[in-house]
Amino acid sequence: MRIKLRPYHVTGILTFIGSGPRRNHFNGANEIAEKIKQNPELEIEVTDRFDDICAQCRRRVRDENGCVWGPDYSCDSARDPDIVEQVAAENRKILDALGIDCGAVLQAREWLELVARNIDDIGDYPNTGGRDEQGNFEKGIEVLREIHRDWMARRAP
Ligand code: SF4
Repeated sequence: MRIKLRPYHVTGILTFIGSGPRRNHFNGANEIAEKIKQNPELEIEVTDRFDDICAQCRRRVRDENGCVWGPDYSCDSARDPDIVEQVAAENRKILDALGIDCGAVLQAREWLELVARNIDDIGDYPNTGGRDEQGNFEKGIEVLREIHRDWMARRAP
Protein backbone atom coordinates (compact mmCIF):
# COMPACT_ATOMS: atom_id res chain seq x y z
CA MET A 1 0.00 0.00 0.00
CA ARG A 2 1.22 3.50 -0.82
CA ILE A 3 0.34 6.90 0.61
CA LYS A 4 1.41 10.37 -0.51
CA LEU A 5 2.84 12.95 1.88
CA ARG A 6 4.04 16.50 1.42
CA PRO A 7 7.60 17.10 2.72
CA TYR A 8 6.50 18.98 5.87
CA HIS A 9 3.90 16.28 6.53
CA VAL A 10 6.69 13.67 6.16
CA THR A 11 8.33 15.27 9.20
CA GLY A 12 5.23 16.63 10.94
CA ILE A 13 3.47 13.27 11.14
CA LEU A 14 6.10 12.17 13.67
CA THR A 15 4.74 14.78 16.11
CA PHE A 16 1.32 13.09 15.87
CA ILE A 17 2.88 9.68 16.49
CA GLY A 18 4.59 11.18 19.54
CA SER A 19 1.54 12.93 20.96
CA GLY A 20 -1.03 10.27 20.13
CA PRO A 21 -4.33 11.12 18.39
CA ARG A 22 -5.47 14.76 18.69
CA ARG A 23 -9.18 15.37 19.23
CA ASN A 24 -11.09 17.07 16.43
CA HIS A 25 -7.99 17.72 14.36
CA PHE A 26 -8.90 19.42 11.07
CA ASN A 27 -7.06 17.11 8.66
CA GLY A 28 -6.17 13.41 8.27
CA ALA A 29 -2.95 13.42 10.33
CA ASN A 30 -4.36 11.16 13.10
CA GLU A 31 -5.43 8.49 10.60
CA ILE A 32 -2.17 8.60 8.64
CA ALA A 33 -0.14 8.36 11.87
CA GLU A 34 -2.06 5.15 12.71
CA LYS A 35 -1.45 3.70 9.23
CA ILE A 36 2.28 4.35 9.55
CA LYS A 37 2.35 2.75 13.02
CA GLN A 38 0.57 -0.34 11.78
CA ASN A 39 2.73 -1.04 8.73
CA PRO A 40 6.51 -0.43 8.68
CA GLU A 41 6.50 -1.47 5.01
CA LEU A 42 3.93 1.15 4.06
CA GLU A 43 5.23 3.07 1.05
CA ILE A 44 5.41 6.83 1.35
CA GLU A 45 5.62 8.84 -1.85
CA VAL A 46 6.79 12.42 -1.38
CA THR A 47 4.74 15.06 -3.18
CA ASP A 48 4.44 18.83 -3.14
CA ARG A 49 0.76 18.56 -4.09
CA PHE A 50 -2.34 17.74 -2.02
CA ASP A 51 -1.59 14.50 -0.17
CA ASP A 52 -3.37 11.82 1.89
CA ILE A 53 -3.50 14.14 4.90
CA CYS A 54 -5.07 16.89 2.77
CA ALA A 55 -7.59 14.38 1.38
CA GLN A 56 -9.37 14.40 4.76
CA CYS A 57 -8.89 18.09 5.52
CA ARG A 58 -11.97 20.12 6.46
CA ARG A 59 -10.34 23.21 4.94
CA ARG A 60 -10.02 21.65 1.47
CA VAL A 61 -12.92 22.59 -0.82
CA ARG A 62 -13.91 21.75 -4.37
CA ASP A 63 -12.63 24.38 -6.81
CA GLU A 64 -12.83 23.89 -10.55
CA ASN A 65 -9.80 26.17 -10.98
CA GLY A 66 -7.66 24.13 -8.61
CA CYS A 67 -4.82 25.90 -6.79
CA VAL A 68 -1.03 25.79 -6.36
CA TRP A 69 -1.37 22.51 -4.43
CA GLY A 70 -3.17 20.73 -7.29
CA PRO A 71 -6.27 20.49 -9.51
CA ASP A 72 -9.97 20.37 -8.55
CA TYR A 73 -9.57 21.65 -4.98
CA SER A 74 -8.24 24.62 -3.06
CA CYS A 75 -7.77 25.56 0.58
CA ASP A 76 -7.18 28.75 2.51
CA SER A 77 -3.43 28.11 2.81
CA ALA A 78 -3.12 27.96 -1.00
CA ARG A 79 -4.73 31.39 -1.29
CA ASP A 80 -2.22 33.10 1.02
CA PRO A 81 1.01 33.94 -0.90
CA ASP A 82 3.01 34.25 2.34
CA ILE A 83 2.01 30.75 3.43
CA VAL A 84 2.68 29.32 -0.05
CA GLU A 85 6.17 30.83 0.01
CA GLN A 86 6.84 29.64 3.57
CA VAL A 87 5.65 26.09 2.80
CA ALA A 88 7.71 25.92 -0.43
CA ALA A 89 10.84 27.07 1.46
CA GLU A 90 10.32 24.55 4.28
CA ASN A 91 9.62 21.75 1.81
CA ARG A 92 12.87 22.55 -0.03
CA LYS A 93 14.81 22.63 3.22
CA ILE A 94 13.43 19.25 4.30
CA LEU A 95 14.10 17.63 0.92
CA ASP A 96 17.67 18.98 0.92
CA ALA A 97 18.25 17.75 4.48
CA LEU A 98 16.97 14.27 3.54
CA GLY A 99 18.77 14.20 0.19
CA ILE A 100 15.64 13.28 -1.75
CA ASP A 101 13.20 15.00 -4.08
CA CYS A 102 9.48 14.94 -4.73
CA GLY A 103 8.55 11.62 -6.33
CA ALA A 104 10.81 9.63 -3.98
CA VAL A 105 9.18 6.51 -2.55
CA LEU A 106 10.36 5.09 0.76
CA GLN A 107 9.03 2.42 3.07
CA ALA A 108 7.92 3.83 6.44
CA ARG A 109 10.89 2.28 8.27
CA GLU A 110 13.40 3.68 5.74
CA TRP A 111 11.74 7.10 5.92
CA LEU A 112 11.87 7.07 9.73
CA GLU A 113 15.62 6.43 9.83
CA LEU A 114 16.25 9.00 7.08
CA VAL A 115 14.42 11.68 9.06
CA ALA A 116 15.97 10.62 12.39
CA ARG A 117 19.49 10.72 10.90
CA ASN A 118 19.14 14.08 9.21
CA ILE A 119 16.74 16.26 11.21
CA ASP A 120 17.01 16.52 14.97
CA ASP A 121 15.81 20.06 15.69
CA ILE A 122 12.44 21.13 14.24
CA GLY A 123 12.64 24.62 15.76
CA ASP A 124 13.35 26.06 12.32
CA TYR A 125 10.55 24.07 10.68
CA PRO A 126 7.31 25.91 11.64
CA ASN A 127 5.05 23.84 9.37
CA THR A 128 6.48 20.64 10.82
CA GLY A 129 5.45 21.94 14.24
CA GLY A 130 8.31 24.18 15.35
CA ARG A 131 9.86 24.33 18.80
CA ASP A 132 6.56 23.63 20.62
CA GLU A 133 6.44 20.20 18.98
CA GLN A 134 10.08 19.20 19.54
CA GLY A 135 9.19 16.83 22.40
CA ASN A 136 6.46 15.10 20.40
CA PHE A 137 8.77 14.84 17.39
CA GLU A 138 11.49 13.09 19.44
CA LYS A 139 8.92 10.85 21.12
CA GLY A 140 7.44 9.98 17.72
CA ILE A 141 10.85 8.73 16.54
CA GLU A 142 11.24 6.65 19.73
CA VAL A 143 7.72 5.19 19.57
CA LEU A 144 8.05 4.26 15.92
CA ARG A 145 11.51 2.74 16.36
CA GLU A 146 10.11 0.56 19.14
CA ILE A 147 7.23 -0.56 16.91
CA HIS A 148 9.67 -1.36 14.10
CA ARG A 149 11.97 -3.30 16.46
CA ASP A 150 9.02 -5.47 17.60
CA TRP A 151 7.96 -5.98 14.02
CA MET A 152 11.51 -7.05 12.95
CA ALA A 153 11.74 -9.40 15.94
CA ARG A 154 8.43 -11.04 14.99
CA ARG A 155 9.66 -11.56 11.42
CA ALA A 156 13.02 -13.02 12.44
CA PRO A 157 13.30 -16.75 11.56
S1 SF4 B 1 -5.01 23.34 4.88
FE1 SF4 B 1 -4.66 22.77 2.73
S2 SF4 B 1 -2.48 22.14 2.63
FE2 SF4 B 1 -3.09 22.13 4.81
S3 SF4 B 1 -3.74 20.00 5.22
FE3 SF4 B 1 -5.59 21.18 4.64
S4 SF4 B 1 -5.79 20.86 2.43
FE4 SF4 B 1 -3.69 20.28 3.00
